[in-house]
Amino acid sequence: MINNTGIIAMSYIIATILFILALGGLSNQETARRGNWYGITGMAIALIATVLGVVTQQYALLLAALVVGGTIGLIAARRVRMTQMPELVAILHSLVGAAAVAVGFANFMDPGRLSHYVGVELTIHDIETYLGVLIGAVTFSGSVIAFGKLSGRIGGKPLTLPARHWLNLALLIAAIWFGREFVLQSAAGGGLQPLIIMTVIALVFGIHMVMAIGGADMPVVVSMLNSYSGWAASATGFMLGNDLLIVTGALVGSSGAILSYIMCRAMNRKFIAVIAGGFGTSEGTVVATGEDQGEVMPIEAEETAALLNSAKEVMIIPGYGMAVAQAQHIVHEITQTLRDKRINVRFGIHPVAGRMPGHMNVLLAEAKVPYDIVFEMDEVNKDFPDVDVSIVIGANDIVNPSALEEPEGPIGGMPVLECWKGKTTIVLKRSMATGYAGVQNPLFFKENTRMLFGDAKDSLDAVFKAL
Ligand code: NDP
Repeated sequence: MINNTGIIAMSYIIATILFILALGGLSNQETARRGNWYGITGMAIALIATVLGVVTQQYALLLAALVVGGTIGLIAARRVRMTQMPELVAILHSLVGAAAVAVGFANFMDPGRLSHYVGVELTIHDIETYLGVLIGAVTFSGSVIAFGKLSGRIGGKPLTLPARHWLNLALLIAAIWFGREFVLQSAAGGGLQPLIIMTVIALVFGIHMVMAIGGADMPVVVSMLNSYSGWAASATGFMLGNDLLIVTGALVGSSGAILSYIMCRAMNRKFIAVIAGGFGTSEGTVVATGEDQGEVMPIEAEETAALLNSAKEVMIIPGYGMAVAQAQHIVHEITQTLRDKRINVRFGIHPVAGRMPGHMNVLLAEAKVPYDIVFEMDEVNKDFPDVDVSIVIGANDIVNPSALEEPEGPIGGMPVLECWKGKTTIVLKRSMATGYAGVQNPLFFKENTRMLFGDAKDSLDAVFKAL
């Protein structure tokens, strides 16, 4: 054990700075790898400082726990496929929640608690414990349900109980009431009963909250649970008087909240509406029922290749369908071929294209598409009048003009990639089915739009051959 509190404090400050640098690095693809290393180094320093500086006994037990936990983590990280990432994240959040509950109970049952804290200090400490357990339990059960939904073990359809908002309100009021009971009884040496009852209430609340949310809204919920897990860790930090845990928890809590906000804004959904649930279907695609909007003009692969060959400016807009078809590798090959012919190819990425933040960027990076031709929506939207051919690969809502034309519609106000302003748009999809939001897309009926029907990978294989 290191006795020098100065060294520990210093290590904690260095770890905190590295965590902030990690978050900064992760905001950009080119610096993401470096950001990850900052995070790994920060966590290693934090772990060593805590093990050597805070722990005083039972080293063998601690080592055994570290080895078991580390081995499970290593195996899970090696086995997980890129498409299973959200599930892994969800289940990891559940562990943070469970840890907060366990630490809260252990802290409460610590025999030295009543001699350590008196009066107002005891009340504050009890509130910290209560909040830590509350947020931890919601995070735990909510994350387990999110994991179940994302991995297909639980259906994606939202569970909409008739009086669900009232149920939530009743649970919240009960949790506050038991909180008061807990603080009052704790000063007199009791309090275990209200703490246990509140834990059960919080577990039920977590399950109910996430069950009410449609499968396709899950990414927002995962980032929200990420935020909760941060606040749970922060509350645990207050309980234990550990500054590093407080700061790290706050970093996770606020970055998760900001991400949830960004995603909601890009989908033009209110955060409260997402959390209130009931939106979205299990598959994310509903067969169109919209009124007759005119004729669609199909196109074949050879014609598509000819259009691409004669273009100077090409914009590729990937969406959820590219992920379904796993078409990213053939997209890269086509990009290479066109670039070799001195055609300027760029990618326009909508912030919520696909089903999780950064979904498209991850797929394109996996296929080794160069970062410098991948742009965010705001960077390319004004360039469409100069684009000769836009290729929309399995994207639908993110290129829907009705978002701008019908402000009152289901996706009204959602920013979209305005590809119809270019010369020709070619849309690759299998049918006329709608996208996640379940609304018809007038883009398909525009004069300068051509539909290349079929699985995106099959269609692009054929285009590549023709090129
Ligand atoms: P959409 O769900 O709007 O459209 C995807 C399209 O891909 C469908 O119309 C489907 O048409 C087509 N498709 C599916 N499989 C294939 C295939 N194998 N080959 C070719 N096409 C295929 O996806 P977008 O990416 O355009 O938009 C994302 C939507 O998801 C937005 O509404 C967004 O708000 C929502 N969302 C995004 C989140 C995120 O974090 N990114 C989180 C939660 C929701 P067809 O069946 O005819 O082939």
